[in-house]
This record gives sequence, structure tokens and C-alpha cells, in this order.
Amino acid sequence: MKVVFLDRDGVINKDSGYVHKKEDFVFIQGIFDSCRSLISKGFELIIITNQSGIERGYYTVEDFLILNDWMLNEFEKADVNICDVFFCPHTPQDNCNCRKPKTGMLDKADLKYNIEKSNSWVIGDKETDIEAGINFGINNTILINSNQNVQIENSKAKFIIPSMKDINKISELRVDN
Ligand SMILES: [Mg+2]
Ligand SMILES: [Zn+2]
Repeated sequence: MKVVFLDRDGVINKDSGYVHKKEDFVFIQGIFDSCRSLISKGFELIIITNQSGIERGYYTVEDFLILNDWMLNEFEKADVNICDVFFCPHTPQDNCNCRKPKTGMLDKADLKYNIEKSNSWVIGDKETDIEAGINFGINNTILINSNQNVQIENSKAKFIIPSMKDINKISELRVDN
């Protein structure tokens, strides 16, 4: 499967810190158009998201899942099919194998969907998103530099753009047959 892996907070919704209620969940402007464009190019969309707020006790797995169902419903209403969502509930101290930049969520997706790495992409707003992709074997990576707090010159990302709205400017972002 050819997949675009999307981080959630900062890519799909504004990252106001440990977002766990729909009242605080603000979709990034133009995100539905961007997603429809990726789907029209032949990609499936999978969300992979670090959610350490769960293990930190800020919200529960149930809270996450309720918000997730609501988010998926909003995507559906906008005619966007999200293939799957994987989340890591752990903190860095837990030393799990799924918290990005580790590859556990990508490995799980690979087992389930057999990812065609050379034709898949990772999009995130943190360097750890990019590193997770590279560690997994996906070199097509896009860093969304929305909050401009990233040391661009040190990033391993293949492309850096200010917003998801700019993905259509990346001509390489297409399925090669
Ligand atoms: Mg993020
Ligand atoms: Zn984890």
C-alpha cells in the first residue's frame, strides 16, 4: 500500500498542547483539500500520533478515542477517508517501542497493510516525526514548519514547507508506477 503517514497535532489540527476535547480541536485551514489531493494522487492516509498525555494522566484512552471518532466523522463528512489511526500513549520515560522517533506505529501499519516504503511519505511538524520515517525506511519526508521553532538547517527532512496547504508545490509527491 502507498501511504502518506500524517502526524496529528500540528499537521491536522492546531497544536495547542495535549488536545483531547473536540472544543479544543481546530482543523488546520485547508486540511481537507490537502487530504483529498493526496488521495486523488493514489495514496491512502494513515495518522500516527504520540499521545503521551494519556500516560501523563491528562486524559484517558477513552477520551482520545472519543475525540478520534469525532475527528474521523468530520473527515468523512468532508469526503476524506482516513485508512487508520495509530497512537502511542507512553511518555519518553516508558521507553516503549512506539513513541516517535521509534517506529512501532509504522511497524504495526506495515504488518497490517504492507507498506510500499519507496512510494510512501511521512509528514510531520517535529523532527521526531521525520526521524521515525527515516528509521522505518521512508526517505520521502516533509516537515511542516508552522511554528517556525525548528532548526531548519539541521532537519533531515527532504522537504520543508510552511503549511499543509503547500503540499501541491511538491511535484515529487506522487505515486510512481
Ligand atoms: Mg505534531
Ligand atoms: Zn509508545
